[in-house]
Order: sequence, then structure tokens, then C-alpha cells
Amino acid sequence: MSAEPMLQTSGLIAGYGNAPVLRGIDLTVPAGTITAVLGANGAGKTTLLRALSGLIRPTGGRIVFDGVELGGTPVEHLVRRGLVHVPQGRGVVEELTVEENLRLGGLWRRDRTDARRALAEVYDLFEPLARRRRHAGHQLSGGERQQLALGRALVARPRLLLLDEPSLGLAPRVTAEIMALLRQLRDDTGLTVLLVEQNVRSALSVADEGVVMALGRIVVATGPAELRDDEQLRHAYLGF
Ligand code: ATP
Repeated sequence: MSAEPMLQTSGLIAGYGNAPVLRGIDLTVPAGTITAVLGANGAGKTTLLRALSGLIRPTGGRIVFDGVELGGTPVEHLVRRGLVHVPQGRGVVEELTVEENLRLGGLWRRDRTDARRALAEVYDLFEPLARRRRHAGHQLSGGERQQLALGRALVARPRLLLLDEPSLGLAPRVTAEIMALLRQLRDDTGLTVLLVEQNVRSALSVADEGVVMALGRIVVATGPAELRDDEQLRHAYLGF
């Protein structure tokens, strides 16, 4: 595990219209690690990912990604640098085939040869997608859609993956497979992951670090075992 931060924010403020949702986020995500972002509904987890990936523009604070300060950087530039967001609900294009959805992940890649190689790797990783490559997005199961969303992100060759609730609507077995895959990608390729999850136990099963958000702030940042073992904290913020 490298000590170099892949991502660092300080005093990050962002929201919608005039209402700030993030009220000063200081977050450090070391390279090659999985950081779980936990917290109740409405805490601001999704808003944090949106601010990091350039979907909403912060009104204050700093974001440094891989040593470079971001400020109004267009989304396609961020993707080219390896900052890739898999949104809540997965963003699969229903009318397009599996293959067309996957190719969208390579849309902004200059290295077309590697984009093709990455596509082949995704089919190796997710055998159901290889079998259904000509099926439309709407024909897929929930688990296959999540594979497709992840696969599309992997075609972009991410260095930092922002994942918003990958377990949503999935059976426990499928969720466990997704978490195992994240662990494998971290261990084998050094991928850095910022994982927003309501499914606290699943997220902590793979995370190197857990941060808890409440009302647009980070209230705790610590190791997964500490989070699991701290009953007071679990009751106060994590609901179990
Ligand atoms: P959840 O798990 O329910 O998605 P969250 O922690 O991800 O919760 P956010 O989705 O970031 O929370 O929402 C934080 C706050 O921002 C909420 O009060 C929400 O109502 C508000 N909000 C979210 N999206 C928008 C939007 N597009 N326009 C205005 N307000 C929004």
C-alpha cells in the first residue's frame, strides 16, 4: 500500500443552487486502497461523489487528484486522467447493447488499441456479459447491470473509481461477488476505490478505511475494525 494520496480534499463545499450540502469535507484517499463512505440517507455521500467527478461544481475548498488540483476541469479530462464515476442506479443505457454500453467507457480514450484490450479483459472478468454482448441493457438482471456499469468504468482504465451504492437491489451473493472483485482489482492492479454504501457490513468487509458522513461533514475516519467494534458510533450513525 502506497502512502501517496490519490485524492485529497480540503474544506470542500458543494450543493445544489444556493444550498450547500457538503459543508467542508477534508478527505484523504491513499493510492491503492478502498475507502468506504458511510452514513445515513441524505448525509451527502452521493453529492460528494458528484463534486469529485465534476458533475456539480464546488463552491469552496480544494480537490487534488493524483497531485493535480481540479477546478472546473471538464468531465472528459477527468476520465482521461483516470477519475471514473459509476453513479447510483448504474447509468446503463437501456436501448444500447452490452457491447455498445461497454464501448461508451472507451469513448474518450486516445489509445484505441488499449481500449480494445480493456474491453476483452472485461469480457474475461464478467462471463455473463460476454454471453450477452448483443443483448440490450433492459434485458439484463440487476447483477448483470452492475457488472456492465463496472465493466464500462474499467474500459476507461480508471486509477480512482468512484462507486455509488453498487449493492443497491442486489442479492447478498451478488453483492459479495462485487466486493470480492473490488478487492481483486485493488490487489492486482493497484486500483483506488471510493465506495459509497448503505450496506455497511459489505463495505467494511473490503475497505481499508471507513469514513462516516453526517449532515455534509465527515464525523469519523478510521479503520474498518474500529468502526465495526464501536457500538456507540454504529448506533449513532450507521443504524446497527
Ligand atoms: P442517499 O443514500 O439517500 O443517496 P446521500 O448521503 O447520498 O443519501 P445525497 O444524495 O448526497 O445524500 O443528498 C444530500 C442532500 O442533498 C439531501 O438533503 C438531498 O435532498 C439533497 N439533494 C440531492 N440531490 C439533489 C438535487 N439534485 N437537487 C437538490 N437537492 C438535492
